[in-house]
Amino acid sequence: MSSESPPPVAAASLSADPVTGELQNQSSGVNSRVKLKIEHLNWDHSFVRELPADPLTDIVSREVLHACYSRVFPSAEVDNPVLVVWSQSVADIIDLDPKEFERPDFPYLFSGATPLKGGLSYAQCYGGHQFGVWADQLGDGRAITLGELLSSKNQRWELQLKGAGKTPYSRFADGLAVLRSSIREFLCSEAIHSLGIPTTRALSLVMTGKLVSRDMFYDGNPKDEPGAIVCRVAQSFLRFGSFQIHAKRGKEDLDIVRMLADYTIKHHFPHLENISKSDDLSFSTGEGNDDVVDLTSNKYAAWLVEVAERTASLIAKWQGVGFTHGVLNTDNMSVLGLTIDYGPFGFLDAFDPSFTPNTTDLPGRRYCFAEQPDIGSWNIGQFALALSTAQLINKKELNYAMDRYGTKFMDEYQAIMTKKVGLPRYNKELIGELLNNMAVDKVDYTNFFRLLSNIKTDPNVPDKELLVPIKAALLDIGRERKEAWTSWVKRYIAELSGTGVSDVERKASMNSVNPKYVLRNYLCQSAIDMAEQGDFEEVRRLLKVMERPYDEQPDMQRYARLPPAWAYRPGVCMLSCSS
Ligand code: AMP
Ligand code: MG
Repeated sequence: MSSESPPPVAAASLSADPVTGELQNQSSGVNSRVKLKIEHLNWDHSFVRELPADPLTDIVSREVLHACYSRVFPSAEVDNPVLVVWSQSVADIIDLDPKEFERPDFPYLFSGATPLKGGLSYAQCYGGHQFGVWADQLGDGRAITLGELLSSKNQRWELQLKGAGKTPYSRFADGLAVLRSSIREFLCSEAIHSLGIPTTRALSLVMTGKLVSRDMFYDGNPKDEPGAIVCRVAQSFLRFGSFQIHAKRGKEDLDIVRMLADYTIKHHFPHLENISKSDDLSFSTGEGNDDVVDLTSNKYAAWLVEVAERTASLIAKWQGVGFTHGVLNTDNMSVLGLTIDYGPFGFLDAFDPSFTPNTTDLPGRRYCFAEQPDIGSWNIGQFALALSTAQLINKKELNYAMDRYGTKFMDEYQAIMTKKVGLPRYNKELIGELLNNMAVDKVDYTNFFRLLSNIKTDPNVPDKELLVPIKAALLDIGRERKEAWTSWVKRYIAELSGTGVSDVERKASMNSVNPKYVLRNYLCQSAIDMAEQGDFEEVRRLLKVMERPYDEQPDMQRYARLPPAWAYRPGVCMLSCSS
């Protein structure tokens, strides 16, 4: 806890919400919202308190053994840093008064140049499989946690600066981040959250005023770019690799896997702490008694199953909105099932199952759109192996968790696709043929589903008019393809007519899962181009649009357009890991 506790909230003080104008009672009631100054945030550093530390605090690149973190401090240089953009909704969850963003010292505090009172900074040690190969120690090479907050809703939030300078985990790199990648991370964190998908969040983005050299195309032509720092916020930034590193180090570190698992369950899966005997948690995996997996007898197995299911559910949601992460290495897999580490990601424009926004991955397309569900399973397999190495789970429990990943993914994916087409039951053939048609004609994944809700359940529409509601998504298709689509729409209408759901009702339901606006890479690029010229309006506008992705937003229709020709230049839709 901070030495100075926050002032008591004034009894029944009313203030207007800066966004909605709504009057709020700060002390009680539905709209009560605590608004604290930075100095009064309620710190509680459980990670540092409960887990083993690196005894050294220097930032020389090195192997850090028998420790979960190193106590280091932000060291990125700043020169007149400026606040580029911030998120009101993230401020709300950590109880930060929105007025604090106006403080002249805000860019210094949230670039790490001025230490936060009550904070306790560190970099986390983790490893990971990169592109299927064990890479050993990676760790927070440029992310520095400022500390953990406990909110008035008793939620734990870790604040972390990305691009705040070197740590022992920086290896050969500089510990910094550039404006381009920071804008992408900031906007996409908030866009993914507003789509209803679990993710780490972004509170603020500060431009440091210093230049950072990056070879964006890895072609030997480095360029100076503006440096920037995002303040990321999540309940925890623990990754699969946070556990793997200790399991891989063998005997001497196995107790750390257990400590870390205990810590994670205690703080982030508390419902598993004392799981009592319950029929719900005992499962038969085969015929005999030996095949029963009793999750109540092993909290680690119950936890692994939950991590597997959260991961499956996360990836099903990505598939639903056409999000491709780009670098699904095990160090980029959150143990809480959050989308984490935004790099060369991309939302599908034209539907293409092999879409691979990360140029580094082009030779193998390991992390392309359609592979994500299988990669999630592979990654869960690696995480489970780490727990098994530390003897926290047995083989049967491991296999069982893998099965549950598969079942959960299929259940959720089918439910999402069913809702996307507005049907009451999953129809494998109809959805399969639709996706096939979309791939053949390179149909825009976002706009198509939005338009599909305009189809009327009317069996009397003449054939030549059947495609009218979706024609804006079917560009340049020939006669043969028109016939294929007409036949699909006919079958679709036949399916719809049996449901008894009105067109109006179905449209509303479909629009609640089919976003009108997604953060297409070209939209990000336009905002980046302007920001690099010192104009942050487009970044801020894009944030506002992406905060309401399912709403029509009549003034913002241009943000639903397909990518223009310039978007196909390198560095816009196809990205490298250079950031
Ligand atoms: P990523 O591909 O962003 O998930 O990063 C993989 C690893 O490289 C992580 O350990 C990062 O902390 C580290 N890393 C990436 N960029 C930098 C950088 N500019 N400076 C130091 N470490 C970095
Ligand atoms: Mg990473």
